[in-house]
Amino acid sequence: VETVGLDLGGTKILAALVTDDGDVVAEHRVPTPDTDAAAIVEALAGAAVAVAGGRSLVAVGVGAAGLVDAQGTVRYAPNVPALIEFPLAQRLSDRLGMPVAVDNDANAAAWGEAIHGAARGVDDVLVVTLGTGIGGGIITGGRLYRGANGFAAEIGHFPVVDEGPACACGIDGHWEAMASGTALGVFARRRAAQGDIPDVVDRAGGDPEAVTGEHVTASALEGDPAAIALVEDFAGVVALGLAGLANILDPALVVIGGGLVTLGDTLLDPLRTEFRRLVEAGAHRPEIPVVAAELGERAGAIGAAALARGLVGG
Ligand SMILES: [Zn+2]
Repeated sequence: VETVGLDLGGTKILAALVTDDGDVVAEHRVPTPDTDAAAIVEALAGAAVAVAGGRSLVAVGVGAAGLVDAQGTVRYAPNVPALIEFPLAQRLSDRLGMPVAVDNDANAAAWGEAIHGAARGVDDVLVVTLGTGIGGGIITGGRLYRGANGFAAEIGHFPVVDEGPACACGIDGHWEAMASGTALGVFARRRAAQGDIPDVVDRAGGDPEAVTGEHVTASALEGDPAAIALVEDFAGVVALGLAGLANILDPALVVIGGGLVTLGDTLLDPLRTEFRRLVEAGAHRPEIPVVAAELGERAGAIGAAALARGLVGG
């Protein structure tokens, strides 16, 4: 059976037609309407029908950027404000006439990696998405851990320092404000202002204030020692949060996804070293491998399709 997974972000909707084996046989992208919730339901329904290409659908899954409760109601969505307190699963199910699963986008991506990606066959996994922000998903005992309300695994909003940089959620010192792609840019602009990363500044057109995480990534991947040193320091901050989460969750595997994974082992090697140093009793526990995600930007849609399959007994 093929199901449709929809990844609903602040700017675009990615629809994927996905087989039981997790293969994407068709995909379709549309902009996310910024008007009202009814327009978003129409856009989601239209994308699902378009990507199905005439095949009859049995279920649809949605990974939505926000806090989603157990009924599939979006409770909070700073990047898609029209959906705040909107019963998305119910309305899309009414519109399409079939079961619809809605979950947080990072949960959907984690489920995708667990069923079809880097965490296949592993029952206890922490999936961390390092992108503009930090998303997360926790698989425990082979199931997604959702918490009492469906809001669990908001790992980016894990307090790391008492007085730290401002987080997008409004509370200072969260891990996301220190270890996301956005934070890498902030960190790099500080180094750029000190004259520490001239190659990176050249890439930004010579303006230290214009430096972004992407410029750092490009320089580091071409072997610029200053950019690599910056990534190593940044990896230490990523490891700090990761070690805290591993101490709490005791995962068998950590999967790192999101845009920063394009850095590959330039990021992951120093991250592994620091993580090993910081995790409790590292010498007395099995090593927790830290690996790159496999499904890329389709992880959310593939995971949403797998959640839909769960609704119809697949
Ligand atoms: Zn926060």
